Amino acid sequence: MGKIAYASVLREDFTQVRYDDLYQALATGALGRIEYCYAYGPELLPAATSTTSGMWRFRNLLPIGDLPITYPLAIGDTPLVAPYRLREATGIPDLWLKDETRTPTGSNKDRATALVLEHAMRNGVQTVSCASTGNVAASLAVGAAATGIAATIFVPAEVSEAKLKLMLLAGATVLKVREGYEAAFELSQEAARTFGWYDRNTGVNPLTLEAKKTVAFEIWEQLRRRVPDAVLIPVGDGPTLSAMVKGFRELVACGASDRLPRAIGVQAEGCQPVKRAWDTGKPVRSVRPETVADGIAVGAPISASLVLRDVRESGGGFVTVSDESMLQAIRTLAATGGILAEPAGAAAFAGLEPAMEAGLIDQDETIVVHVTGTGLKSPQYLQPKVPPIEINATLEEVEQAIESP
Ligand SMILES: *Cc1c(COP(=O)(O)O)cnc(C)c1O
Repeated sequence: MGKIAYASVLREDFTQVRYDDLYQALATGALGRIEYCYAYGPELLPAATSTTSGMWRFRNLLPIGDLPITYPLAIGDTPLVAPYRLREATGIPDLWLKDETRTPTGSNKDRATALVLEHAMRNGVQTVSCASTGNVAASLAVGAAATGIAATIFVPAEVSEAKLKLMLLAGATVLKVREGYEAAFELSQEAARTFGWYDRNTGVNPLTLEAKKTVAFEIWEQLRRRVPDAVLIPVGDGPTLSAMVKGFRELVACGASDRLPRAIGVQAEGCQPVKRAWDTGKPVRSVRPETVADGIAVGAPISASLVLRDVRESGGGFVTVSDESMLQAIRTLAATGGILAEPAGAAAFAGLEPAMEAGLIDQDETIVVHVTGTGLKSPQYLQPKVPPIEINATLEEVEQAIESP
């Protein structure tokens, strides 16, 4: 596919690398940070009548060439939910939830895993590796299990128990790094180079951004080929937001939209290095994350410069949310929207109110909230306010129970 170029975004020069050479380029780390470009045009988007399902329907805007896809798990086509009770509760009549809890392992990471593993399979890779606070690891472990590739995964010692069990159940080799996530990340890169593993780390592997951008294409299709006014996106390291903006940017480049939606980044109060840099205009300073939202607890975000660029270019902004407001958002999403989210997955919804207060969004706009991860893998954060009512098995006690306030 001659139309694909491979460009360095953090260096001035522009390097072209063919898809077939990508594997070698990644292995040597020769290219630094990179971003894909295409020869954009309307013909790269699927026809409105296309019946191909899932993420691969956008294959003209993915660097996968013409070979058939062999990745076995279903990826993409997550629902864009019209939550009418939440619309009433928030006073936003055109509110939408992009439900990325509905994926093989319940987070938006499964898109990236799919594209990376498709690439790995084609290159005869035996072992893939990554560092992760939880969801990437669970996603890679399960995806690797489905493809028969071995996975070596570096997690911080405080990794959530349910996520850890999922990785182990899927047969991954899990290395719990006592020094925490930053150290796990450094070590995983070094180990991948030393032992010749295929590195899935987001921010290192450009395929992850390519895959995650398809969520923007889906939103555009699901809104009947228009883009929303604003999208609220949780920000940890940042690729989730950057990928979303890249997707919308490519829709503009393909002539499908005349503008970008405003990207509103949502960070946890206890881990807001990117928001700080946005507010102060100073370089990003790393912090020690203190938040229940493990999915966005990234104290030293290596993709921050891209996120800042993308939020600026989209005309968006940043807000922060407290742990309590994320836990409350989990309850509200469950009780009023029918969606179970983990704290990071509920962060963008929690960000609606502060974003409105900051004047970043308006109630009469079309607003999409990115719900990035399921609560089912984080049972410790499902904290209902009322206990169950214990009864003896008699109708009288049922009657008493339903009468008591
Ligand atoms: C990974 C993740 C995010 C955002 O992560 P980035 O590092 O900013 O791409 C948000 N929510 C959940 C549930 C996640 O797993």
